[in-house]
Amino acid sequence: MKLSLIGMTVATVLSVHITASAAGKDLLLLTAPGCDAKLATRVEQFCAAELNGLAIHVKPMTKGSELAWPELAKKIQGNMGKDDLGAVLLVQRAVSSNLVTIVSNMPVAVVDLADPRKDGTAADETYARWIERETMRAYGLVLGVKICPNPQCAMSNYKVKPESLPALGRNYCPYCKKILLDQLKAKGVIFPEPKRVKKAVK
Ligand SMILES: [Zn+2]
Repeated sequence: MKLSLIGMTVATVLSVHITASAAGKDLLLLTAPGCDAKLATRVEQFCAAELNGLAIHVKPMTKGSELAWPELAKKIQGNMGKDDLGAVLLVQRAVSSNLVTIVSNMPVAVVDLADPRKDGTAADETYARWIERETMRAYGLVLGVKICPNPQCAMSNYKVKPESLPALGRNYCPYCKKILLDQLKAKGVIFPEPKRVKKAVK
């Protein structure tokens, strides 16, 4: 209960700060058959807020999500529109050793929906936060951010123990976030100028 309250507070604060959306380019979030729609929406909203309002389109991937690399990468890329900078597929993999997988020369990644605790459901707050974190890392990798040594950063790559799931950070550290936003601007994303708020002088 405590965890879910913290999650809601963070989401509320973020939504208040973002008053205008980034434009020019988008990201794609593909969902394999069986992926919970509410979970996908939640992940999309979290990542979009963290990326300063960049649009992330959720789209079901009805065919090919069961394929292995490199065929899977080609299928994912085939779903991308001309304005999509990258695509992440949420899918439960049959065999999983890596939770986020990418291919070196394509802007696509896969997030495995498998729960390290083996008992995750889309309604479970810890599980949902975990998938948010992994999707954040997937977008970071797709957009050219490297692995980060800060264990609280979404770009960290340390081996996750099931008991450490509730304590994992879901956000980018300031260093990674700056790299990411610079990459996005270089790729044509236009971020709105931050609003100047006049402070009342007492
Ligand atoms: Zn970082």
